[in-house]
Amino acid sequence: MMRETTVFGPIFSRRLGSSLGINLLPERGKICNFDCIYCECGWNKDGRGDTHLPSAEEVRKALEAKLSACAGAGTPIDSITFSGDGEPTLNPDFAAIVDLTLALRDRYYPAARVSVLSNATRLDREDVFQALRRVDNPILKIDAPTDEGARKMNRPAGDYHVEDIVRNLERFEGAFILQTMFLKGDGWSSADWVEEWMNLVRRLHPREVMVYTLDRETPQKGLEKYTVDEMRALVRPLIEEGYQLQIKG
Ligand code: SF4
Repeated sequence: MMRETTVFGPIFSRRLGSSLGINLLPERGKICNFDCIYCECGWNKDGRGDTHLPSAEEVRKALEAKLSACAGAGTPIDSITFSGDGEPTLNPDFAAIVDLTLALRDRYYPAARVSVLSNATRLDREDVFQALRRVDNPILKIDAPTDEGARKMNRPAGDYHVEDIVRNLERFEGAFILQTMFLKGDGWSSADWVEEWMNLVRRLHPREVMVYTLDRETPQKGLEKYTVDEMRALVRPLIEEGYQLQIKG
C-alpha cells in the first residue's frame, strides 16, 4: 500500500489511535535501506521510479494546511506519525522537518504525540539521533536478534550489524519504543530466536515494546502470522519482569 501524498489521513492506527501520517519519501515510490520480506509497501525493486524527497518547506506547507483544516473541522488527531513508503530518516531534511512538525503540533494540536517509525539504521548520524530524542515516540525497529536473521527478514542494503544498532540504541537510555515483527515458521521467532531477542530487550530496557505480526499483504508470499495469544506466550518472561508490552495481532 503506497501513500500518494506527503501528509495523509488521519487514519485509525492499531497502535497510535487517530493518526495523521507524514511520508518523507517520494509520493509515488518507495525508498528504504531495508527491503523487508513483510513490507506493506512491496519490494524496493517494484517502486514506481519517483525519487523526489519532499523538502522541509514542502512538508511545512502541506502539514500546516492539513492541521488547520482538521482543527477547523473539529477532527481529532491523537498522533502525528512519520511512517511513509520507506525509511523517513533517509530524507536529508529529517531533523529540520521534525522540528517544524513539533512547532506546528504545539500550535494546532498540543495534546497530539509526534511519533517516528524508523528502522534505526541512521542513529550514527548525530542530527538524526538528536531529532529522534526530541519526538514523543521514537519507535525503533529491531526484528532479528542476529545479523543472519536480519539479512533474511530485513534484507538490508550494505552492512548491518545488530550489535551496532544496539549500541546506538543504548544512547537513548531506555527513552524509546522498540518495535519487533514476529513471523511464524522458518526459524523466525523460534524459542532460541525469541530468547536472544529478549536478551536484547533486557539490555536496552526500552520504555515500551511493541510486538506485532502481519496485518496486510506482503511481498514475500507464504508468510505466516501469529495470534495475539501465541505472541503473549512467547514474551511472557518479559511481561513477568515488568516490561511494558503492546501485542498487536
Ligand atoms: S524498514 Fe519499513 S519501509 Fe523499509 S522495507 Fe522494512 S517495513 Fe518496509
